[in-house]
Amino acid sequence: MSKNWEYAASLLWPILTTAAKDRRKPIYKELAPLINTNPLSVGNALEPIQAYCMEYKLPPLSAIVVGKNTGLPGGGFIAWDIEDIDSAFEKVFNHPWETVQNPFFGFTEHDSIETLSNEIINNPNKAKEIYTKVKVRGTAQHIFRETLLKAYESRCAICGFSFKQALEAAHIVPWSKAKPEERISPSNGVLLCSNHHKLFDEGIIQITNQLQVHHPKKQSHYSKADIAATVVLDTKSLQLPKNINLWPSLHLINRRNQTYQKQ
Ligand SMILES: [Zn+2]
Repeated sequence: MSKNWEYAASLLWPILTTAAKDRRKPIYKELAPLINTNPLSVGNALEPIQAYCMEYKLPPLSAIVVGKNTGLPGGGFIAWDIEDIDSAFEKVFNHPWETVQNPFFGFTEHDSIETLSNEIINNPNKAKEIYTKVKVRGTAQHIFRETLLKAYESRCAICGFSFKQALEAAHIVPWSKAKPEERISPSNGVLLCSNHHKLFDEGIIQITNQLQVHHPKKQSHYSKADIAATVVLDTKSLQLPKNINLWPSLHLINRRNQTYQKQ
């Protein structure tokens, strides 16, 4: 099982905000033992902190964690122009961090992407409670994907493609239009391969309220591969989870098709 980096981030958050207040830059080596890891892995715990600061337009808190010799943040740091890193340090040092609640406070040692996705599988109604605890979009997406991988037994619902590396969690009602409880709920998702996800987002492949594939607009030219990925799948039933509680909601499919579907 992978290490629980969100929990590690919850431990680092108060350490970094205190260091910022003291205008101090902790080094990787100093933080590693505090989260029970090695210096090279500290970046994994900084990653959700970086994502949170970027998403909520806060100064890049993770910038102040630097290498002992370089005095610079490590390779995973993308939140600021490294050429202008001194201005990032200033922004972080001057921010009133005491006004920002630790975004990862909800994560306990026992919560992880794995356990949280299992909780949703066992009780999809918990999606809202879990979403409010997660906060960072990247982490929420990660939980959503893990949940759908389990629900759909790692197969694209449209074509059955099963290389995990190219399977994605597609939203029926897009993230930006979805209510919080819909953002990581299996009722608003379907597991698709990368190709079908893109075709679905662009409206080239649709899902009907009969839970069938629909390819609305015929094109003038198709390669054999195009036909296999679109035309022959028209009216085919989706390959859905065994547990009906994890199926996409017809209500959300209708909402997409009536309001958000690209034509
Ligand atoms: Zn597919």
